[in-house]
Parts: sequence; structure tokens; C-alpha cells
Amino acid sequence: MLTKDKEKGTSIAAVLPSTHIISVDVEDYFMVEAFASSVSLDSWGSRPSRVVMSTLRVLDLFDAYSVKGTFFFVGWVADKFPSLVREVHARGHELACHSYWHRTVYSQTPDEFREDTRAAVRAIEDAAGVKVFGYRAPSWSITKDCLWALDVLAEEGFRYDSSIYPIHHDLYGVPGARRFPYTHRLKDGHSLLEFPPATVRLLGQNLPCAGGGYLRIFPLAYTHWVFRTFQEDYGESVVVYFHPWELDPDQPRIREKLKSRLRHYTNLDGMKNRLEHLLQTYSFQPFCEVAGVGGGPALQTVGEGENCQGVARQCS
Ligand SMILES: [Zn+2]
Repeated sequence: MLTKDKEKGTSIAAVLPSTHIISVDVEDYFMVEAFASSVSLDSWGSRPSRVVMSTLRVLDLFDAYSVKGTFFFVGWVADKFPSLVREVHARGHELACHSYWHRTVYSQTPDEFREDTRAAVRAIEDAAGVKVFGYRAPSWSITKDCLWALDVLAEEGFRYDSSIYPIHHDLYGVPGARRFPYTHRLKDGHSLLEFPPATVRLLGQNLPCAGGGYLRIFPLAYTHWVFRTFQEDYGESVVVYFHPWELDPDQPRIREKLKSRLRHYTNLDGMKNRLEHLLQTYSFQPFCEVAGVGGGPALQTVGEGENCQGVARQCS
């Protein structure tokens, strides 16, 4: 699809034909870590849920631009709304796992993490009748303190992870981690592909650039510069992520500290236009097509440090 880039008056897609990866973390607005001190897990069932409506909004948006992506479901959502899981699958998207209770991994023991993950996988797989291969931790919470989680994921049959954010942040991140897709070599000969969310290098730092609040709040020109940098300089795919509640400016407001409210509520009004701009300008695909799982060609093990393009070539 060729469209005009309004900012430059040229067709970006015509000169930069790479395909990127788009993903959606399917959770309700009250499940986020920033509100965890104000919203108890016990209260989830009595709060007005908006996740079905907002996820259908995402599905319609993707359909409008013929885009397929990966939807990481919170298991609690899959249990409560199994028809939503089926709808996402029926519209041709990949289903993946975003924990059951959306608790940070580093706050759990390995046994608790395994139990939470199994409950989520069961809910998603029971709802749609398909196997789940991908995992994304709530709040990017696989950090240096809990790398054991990767062993658990591999033992539980996951083939890829997208949870390690190579940035400095007060809640998450592994600042020195690799910035492009790679393979974890784990216990007992297991391996797990890792797809980090996109970052750019600026002034000696890794900066987040293509997901959630960073996508909503930073100028659109910055986002376009990121895509151009990935395609022209890095030769890599941009890993994009966002949440259905980011397309829901009318969601109930939760009283929290100012920093949390700024992160959650800034520019919710503008997110739909932002996403439409990206969807019409660039090409996207789900993780499974790159990782070669879920009906795609058999997963090929790539060498340590081999990049996303290497994987894509082996699967094409
Ligand atoms: Zn989440």
C-alpha cells in the first residue's frame, strides 16, 4: 500500500518496503502496573470492563488496513471473555500470552510464575482451540533479577518471548540487553527467541520509541524518524506494541499519583490517528510469521546475535 507521508510529501512505503512487527497487549484499563496500588485484584470483577469494546476497535482498525498482528492476552480476560479470544483468532491474528493476573514477574517466585503462566495459557487455548507460542511479561518485568523466567517459559513450551526492554526505567528494563532479536541458550538444551521492543541509540543511550506511551506522547515526526532509522541504518524490523485502552479516551479515570496519570492518560485522544498513520504508511506482520511458529515453517534455531532478518530469511 503506497500512501503519502504528509510530513515529507514523499511516499515512504515506495522507498522503504520492509515489514515490521505489531503487537497488542489485551488488558483492561484498570490492570496496569501504574495503578496496582489503587486497584486490588479482588476488585477487577466489579469494575466496568471496556476491554471487549476497545479490542474490537483495534480489530476494526487493523481490518481497515489489512494488517495482521500478535495479541498477547491477559488470561483473566480470556477466561471472562472467551468469545473475544475467538474473534481475534477468527480475524486472522496470532494469539499469545500476557500472564493471568498481570503481576510483575520479579515479584513472584518461579513456582508462582509457572502457575500464573499455565493458568493464562489454559484460558487462551481453551477459548480458541489453538496453541500459544509467545509470551510477553506484564510491564516488561523480566529483568536481571528474574531471568529464571526464561527457563520456565521454555520448559512450558513457549518458542519466543518479547519481555526484555533494553532501557533504563523505574519499573522495568535491562539496560545492557541486546536491542535486536536474538536467541536465549537455556538449561537442558532449551532455547527461546527474544524480540525486544524497538529502541534507538541517541547520545549514548537506548531510547524507547515505538510502543505504548512512547508512541502516544512523543511527536509523530520522531516515530517516522525511528522507522526510517530501522530500515535504512539498522536493517531491522520495528517491534511496535500498544494496548486497547489507549484507543479509549472515555475510560473511567482512576485516582493515582500524577506520574502514573500522565503516563496513562496523555494523548489518548490522538492515538487512533497516530496508529492509522503508521498502519497506512508501513507494512506489519505478527511475531509468528517471523519466528516460524503456529502453522508457519518449522522454527529454525539462529545463532547467538543473529538478527531478525536472519530468522525471517530462514522462514520465508
Ligand atoms: Zn500489560
